Amino acid sequence: MKELFREREFERVAFFRQVLEDEGIPTMIRNENLTMSGLSEIPIPEFFPALCVMNDDDYPRAVAIIRARLDEEKSDPGEDIGCPACGESNPGNFSNCWSCEAPLRPEVVG
Ligand SMILES: [Zn+2]
Repeated sequence: MKELFREREFERVAFFRQVLEDEGIPTMIRNENLTMSGLSEIPIPEFFPALCVMNDDDYPRAVAIIRARLDEEKSDPGEDIGCPACGESNPGNFSNCWSCEAPLRPEVVG
């Protein structure tokens, strides 16, 4: 078992757990019970819920998935991206051009 990340907000840990489970990666949340008992109100990182992969072999894949998801969140949807293929401008949260369907961020590869 390997810890991926810990975060004070349980909802966020649970969200990423779901993302990984959807990808077929078995996970568990450490400190879940502590969180539920309200102890997470104490701002001690050791008590934060931690998302872990059950199989160490899944770790690199899980990190890649989370990283990709965080990158998606970071990209400001308000900022347009020019299509590298046809030059149309697309909302920043699009991954493919609405016009010609070319990938807007070809550098993002698993
Ligand atoms: Zn295009």
